Amino acid sequence: MTLLELKDVSVHYGRIQAIHNMSFTVGEGEIVSLIGANGAGKTTTMRTISGLLNPSHGSITFMGEDITKMKAHIRVVQGISQAPEGRGIFPAMTVLENLDMGTFGRKDRTGVSDDLERVFTLFPRLKEREKQYGGTMSGGEQQMLAIGRALMSRPKLLLLDEPSMGLAPQFIRQIFKIITEINSQGTTVLLVEQNANQALARAHRAFVLETGEITHSGTGKELLANPAIKEAYLGG
Ligand code: ATP
Repeated sequence: MTLLELKDVSVHYGRIQAIHNMSFTVGEGEIVSLIGANGAGKTTTMRTISGLLNPSHGSITFMGEDITKMKAHIRVVQGISQAPEGRGIFPAMTVLENLDMGTFGRKDRTGVSDDLERVFTLFPRLKEREKQYGGTMSGGEQQMLAIGRALMSRPKLLLLDEPSMGLAPQFIRQIFKIITEINSQGTTVLLVEQNANQALARAHRAFVLETGEITHSGTGKELLANPAIKEAYLGG
């Protein structure tokens, strides 16, 4: 089943067009990766799906409903949650308070405590540091916290913008393993990455974005084997 569909979406910053007539779908249960160079439009795409930016043209459908004009906070309640690029955690709040911010709008307290357990099982480090202030944690830990907070809204679709950015190699492997685990527990994932190798290896399907347009698409395996993509994105 199609969970998310972008149809002919264009996005402008003033007179600058960042996204050109983009169309793609994300199926329920998939990991879909968007790869591309700096400035290709990956973050713009994510922010348009989460509702922080408005398309100038085209439509976005989620679970069969047109959400093109829906406010960002309503999209969270509907099941779309984003862990933003640059982590975006609250530095002056503890780990636990940060995670609690992710439950905004939820009234099912038992569900919330189950989800907190799930986050602590995925990220034992967050449990160990639950009383520590977000801003005092390492980059890798803040990244885990951002993903954990996004999971606290129990999303159907998790948007991950550059989860491996700035992480040490051992954290990068760990983050991608955890993303696969989150997905195998039933959460659909749309992943934006500059680490194309890992992003393609973990994806069911993937798209390559160049200056705001999709130039290649296929299964993760197909794109990993594509000579043009190897040359441009996978270090030859
Ligand atoms: P990065 O990995 O560097 O974040 P990206 O693929 O996510 O790159 P975007 O940040 O989406 O790319 O940027 C797409 C295009 O839109 C770029 O040409 C960028 O310069 C432009 N752009 C992004 N944000 C703004 C803004 N606030 N105002 C004007 N132009 C912008």
